[in-house]
Amino acid sequence: RARGMEMASKDCVQVAVRVRPFNKRERDAGSRCIISITSNNISIQDPRNPQNSRIFTFDYTYWSHSGFSRNKDGLFVSEETGGRYADQASVFLDLGQGIHDNALLGYNATLLAYGQTGSGKSYSMVGYGPNKGLIPTLCDRLFQSIKSMQDSRQCQVFFSMLEIYNEQVLDLLSKTSRSAGGLRVREDQQRGFYVEGLRRVPCDCAAQVEQLMEQGTRTRTTVATHMNANSSRSHMLIIIHLKQIFSKECITKQSNIYLVDLAGSERQRSSGSEADRLKEGTAINLSLTTLGNVISALADMALGKKVVHIPYRDSVLTKLLQSALGGNSRTVMIATLSPADICYEESLSTLRYAERAK
Ligand code: ADP
Repeated sequence: RARGMEMASKDCVQVAVRVRPFNKRERDAGSRCIISITSNNISIQDPRNPQNSRIFTFDYTYWSHSGFSRNKDGLFVSEETGGRYADQASVFLDLGQGIHDNALLGYNATLLAYGQTGSGKSYSMVGYGPNKGLIPTLCDRLFQSIKSMQDSRQCQVFFSMLEIYNEQVLDLLSKTSRSAGGLRVREDQQRGFYVEGLRRVPCDCAAQVEQLMEQGTRTRTTVATHMNANSSRSHMLIIIHLKQIFSKECITKQSNIYLVDLAGSERQRSSGSEADRLKEGTAINLSLTTLGNVISALADMALGKKVVHIPYRDSVLTKLLQSALGGNSRTVMIATLSPADICYEESLSTLRYAERAK
């Protein structure tokens, strides 16, 4: 593993930023667009101090729309200056296809979505209706590839779905594992960190995966309601495990794809009690902060800087992702933003977080 990490190339961490269209609330509030995009640069303007803007550079930057319409007061100014309009299919080509290809070669991958609640994380990862997001499209392609394989390899796909809340792990596909304290994260010489007793469902088509995702999402919402919590404060993690058996050659290749919908970046505000809020805030920040530190260390390493320590062990999320961050793994982050002035603080903090991964 250490050797693999040394070989990490700059391409190992890719960061994309996607700006969603205005929503009704923003339109009703007469919001202005404070984001502008020029090729890979994205700039954000401080609405209270328009001279003050900051520019960030990412691997990919997307508008989700081909321009804003202007109301009679001219409030929705399109500041589109050459940024790329991207639908779900083109986002998949940029970010998902490589993960698919890598997995078939036997490598692990991590795809992370980060942003304020309501900024488009689920839209990008899961999608709605016919606008399928990265995860269902990835599964479609994976099963298509498996079906059309020309050689004699045998493929098996397993699906798991869990939630990390307050550093506790909950199996979203199992009704029986809701023990206090959550499932245990263990470490094994061969497997690295894993969740003990996590349900792994064998799947042989994309429809089955979609069904399981729906089931897991329902559980997530129910549990959140039951605990009087907000599911946007937890991290949701899907693991797709691909096993390829080449019986003639006596080789087995295993790869894990981790798909992570991170807690909303606005998590500081809470409706719970002060004590709950503090506990929750620290725990959620712990996984997010540690993830930021890990990815930034990996990015530094890819740039040839000397990195002494990668703090995988500091949070549950980074423990579980350890084998799929760095080394030969592909790591992709999609940071999602609202275009509106009223989201300035959140969008700026999202961009700062995403920038650390570069
Ligand atoms: P999050 O998961 O970050 O809380 P959602 O993905 O649920 O946010 O998005 C909030 C709303 O914005 C949804 O109604 C969704 O359809 C819409 N939306 C988000 N991103 C896009 C996009 N790229 N293009 C069109 N609509 C989007």
